[in-house]
This record gives sequence, structure tokens and C-alpha cells, in this order.
Amino acid sequence: MNIPRQRATEQPPDIRAHNFSEVSGGFDKDTAIKEAGRCLGCKNAPCVSACPVGVDIPRFIQSLKQGDIGGAYDVIRLSNALPAVCGRVCPQESQCEGKCVRGIKGEPVAIGLLERYAADNADVTTAKVSLTHSVGIIGGGPAGLSCAGELLRQGIGVTVYESLHKVGGVLSYGIPEFRLPKSIVQSEVSRLIEAGALIETNVVVGKSITLDELRKKHNALFIGSGAGLPNFMDISGERLCGVYSANEFLTRINLMGAYDGRHDTPVNIPRTAAVVGGGNVAMDAARCALRLGADKVFIIYRRSAEDMPARREEVRHALEEGIELLPFTVPLRFNGENGVLTSVVCAKTVPGEPDASGRRSPTVDESTAFELPLDTAIIAVGTSPNPLVAANAPSLTRDSRGRITADENGETSIANVFAGGDAVTGAATVISAMGAGKRAAETIAKRLLS
Ligand SMILES: Cc1cc2nc3c(=O)[nH]c(=O)nc-3n(C[C@H](O)[C@H](O)[C@H](O)COP(=O)(O)OP(=O)(O)OC[C@H]3O[C@@H](n4cnc5c(N)ncnc54)[C@H](O)[C@@H]3O)c2cc1C
Repeated sequence: MNIPRQRATEQPPDIRAHNFSEVSGGFDKDTAIKEAGRCLGCKNAPCVSACPVGVDIPRFIQSLKQGDIGGAYDVIRLSNALPAVCGRVCPQESQCEGKCVRGIKGEPVAIGLLERYAADNADVTTAKVSLTHSVGIIGGGPAGLSCAGELLRQGIGVTVYESLHKVGGVLSYGIPEFRLPKSIVQSEVSRLIEAGALIETNVVVGKSITLDELRKKHNALFIGSGAGLPNFMDISGERLCGVYSANEFLTRINLMGAYDGRHDTPVNIPRTAAVVGGGNVAMDAARCALRLGADKVFIIYRRSAEDMPARREEVRHALEEGIELLPFTVPLRFNGENGVLTSVVCAKTVPGEPDASGRRSPTVDESTAFELPLDTAIIAVGTSPNPLVAANAPSLTRDSRGRITADENGETSIANVFAGGDAVTGAATVISAMGAGKRAAETIAKRLLS
């Protein structure tokens, strides 16, 4: 009971701030087995109910305790198609680890790091089963891949249609290499291909092919097209050269390799950069700007540091690397010369009454306005659902914010067309998108196999 929570190795902040290699080195075998020994193996495990895909956490940790890494991996894989990804990027502090009984009087078991250890170190062989039926999956992000994984597990064939040249969704184009190496995403995708998944990239559903055409080709469809349309603040100067949406900035770097010298993709190499926002996207953009060579990177956030929705670990890492947080601050306008960004004018905010989320809504005090010279600004204030899938499908119901409407099993207004993930909820988390993909797959499988 007295064993403290084990720590993963990490690149020191002054080194990692200048490279794109993975920050966390994870656990080695001895550390993993020691940490697994801290799990109480609770019968009514609250960690399991807090996991949107319902991984049997005590059972996989029990296998790890006995040094059975393959057994641990097999248990996780029954519920989770992307364990090496989830072990790295899930917000465990508000899910499984947030409910861990050991966390009541001390530190919770490091469930995420144990999941990552099992996924990275198991000897994996994918059993090929014969597949029946055919489900079309639109979007190769976590929702679509999780739906594919569950359908394949139940013996149902899938074809994933992805608009980009690589599958993975945000895992490929958004989350940087230093948090989630792209080789890890590709090896998880390879396991789905080995299990029989067909993948068609460069297919923009709604443009290259319509939803109705796809309905004729498949027994059912699942739409996991995400929320990749960036929101802007609608302030003066947002179109200046040097002002990016976080999606564009991160896509240039992560998907199109603008950081590694082997690609022709252009990107501003910042000297002074400011990122607007307080979520994971803002942290990723700020840390990428630093790694590209910026001397100074600011994060402009309208509420307090504690209110920032980013994972705690990402905020800690960003601050350790020397990124400066400007809390209670909003940008009022960007200034430029000859169409090129030169500064941002900001003002301080005052916390007002609590909003629906329980956080206090900030009001702007314009008398505090100050100017920050900079050459790069990155806007990370949220995204909206990708609109193209629904472009030629008027019977696919969406709400006023463009989110596809679907019931708890993911079924939409069109029979046998399901949807889930950010396309339905708006921007959320990897694991909630995966949970939605898995639930829809279970309903589709029940229907097709009955
Ligand atoms: C930079 C960044 C960092 C993040 N960090 C974290 C984190 O640390 N932890 C966490 O839990 N969550 C994080 N998130 C949120 C998380 O990544 C998303 O909630 C999750 O990826 C949603 O999965 P999805 O499958 O619904 O959508 P996406 O991942 O967006 O995938 C949708 C896919 O559909 C494709 N598509 C769109 N339209 C079409 C079309 N018309 N035809 C064919 N294909 C189409 C897109 O190209 C994309 O590949 C982060 C998000 C971003 C942007």
C-alpha cells in the first residue's frame, strides 16, 4: 500500500523545447510491474465505468502484475481499438484515474501509462477472421477507427473513406509528434488493416461521392467526420499574414512535415508568437511554435490558469518549457504593416457571474489595453463540425451549430446511417469519440447479424 505512484521518464524541458521527439518515455518493465502492484483490483471498479469504451482496467492490470504483457494487451483490445493512442492522450485525470479508489487518499494508479506500456510492448498477432456484410465509415479519426475495430471484431467488413491522404484524423494532423508519434498511430491503423479494414484516402464524401451513393454500396454507414472547421474571433486584423488558425498551423507541421526539413511545406518560423486559447489545441500550437525556434511564446487566455480545459500534464509541460501564460487576457485586435502581422492589442478581463459550465464568464476591461509586438499569432478558440458530408444530404438532420443529430446509439435521421464523435458532440476528446464509434458499431452489428 505504501508504494508511491511511479513516474515515467521524460526529456528535460530545456532539451525537449528544441526537438519534436516524444516528451514522455513511458515506463520500463520493472516500473510497470511495480505500478501495477498498486492497483487494488476493486470488484465494482469505478475506473471502468469512467472509461467511455469500458476497458476492464483491473483485469488488464492484474495480467501486468504477473508480467503477462500479451494477456494485458488482449484484455484492453477487447474494448479499445487504439490503446497506444489512448495511453498517451486520454485525459485520464478526469476519467479512469479520476475515479481510482487509490486516488481518494493518495495518488491514483497510473492507468494511462500502464495501458501505454502494454500496447507498446505486447507481441501482437492479428487473427484474420472471415468477414460478412459491408459498412462504410466516413472519416478515419478515432470515432471511425473505433467503429471499424468493433465491427471487425464482430466479423463485419468495413471500408473507411478519408478525405486526407492519411487516416488518423486529429491523431495524424493535430496532435504533434512529441506527444503522439505518428509511427504509433500508423501501427494502430496497420492492425485494423491486418484485421481486414479497407481504407480509401483522398475521398471527400459530399464532393467526390455523395452519401446516397455510399448508402447503395454498403449495408450501413457511420459518419465520424469530426469538427475540423476552425472558429475565429471576428476581430480586426485576423486576416493578416502571420495569423493562423491552430488547425492550419498544426496541419502544416504534423501532417505535412513543415518542421523536419524533408518537406517543402512552408510555415512562419516565429520569433515571438502568441496563441489564443486554453485547451489542448492551444498547448500543442504553443509548444510547436517553440520547437520551430521561437524566442518567446505567449498563451493568451481569458480565464484563470485553473480554468484551462487542457490536460494538466500538457499545461505543466508547456510552462516547464518556458511558455508564458497571460491569464485573464483577451486580444482586441491585431495590427500589421503591408498586410503582415506586427502586434496584438490585448486587455485584461474580470471574472463575472458563473456560466452554464460553472466557470465565471469574463468581462473585458478595455482601460487595461496593452500592445504585444509579435510576428505569429495562432487562434485556438474552438472548432465546428466539418460541413461537407451533409452538403448533398438534406435529410441528414443537424442542429443550429451544424452538429449531426443522432440518438444514444448513434442513429441519425436516415435509416442505417449512424454518426458519432466530434461531428455529433462538437469538439470533445479522443476517448469520447471512440466510445461513440464503438456504441454505433454494436448497434449496427446487432442489426446486421440478427
Ligand atoms: C490539436 C488537438 C489536440 C488534441 N488533444 C487531445 C488530447 O490530448 N486528448 C484528447 O482526448 N483529445 C484531444 N483532442 C480532441 C480529439 O482529438 C478529438 O475530440 C477527436 O479526434 C475526435 O475524433 P473524431 O473521429 O470524431 O474526429 P477527427 O479526429 O476530427 O476525425 C475526423 C476525420 O474525418 C475526416 N473527414 C472530415 N470530413 C470528411 C469528408 N467529407 N469525407 C471524408 N472524410 C472526412 C477528417 O479528415 C478526419 O480525418 C485534440 C484535438 C486537437 C485538434
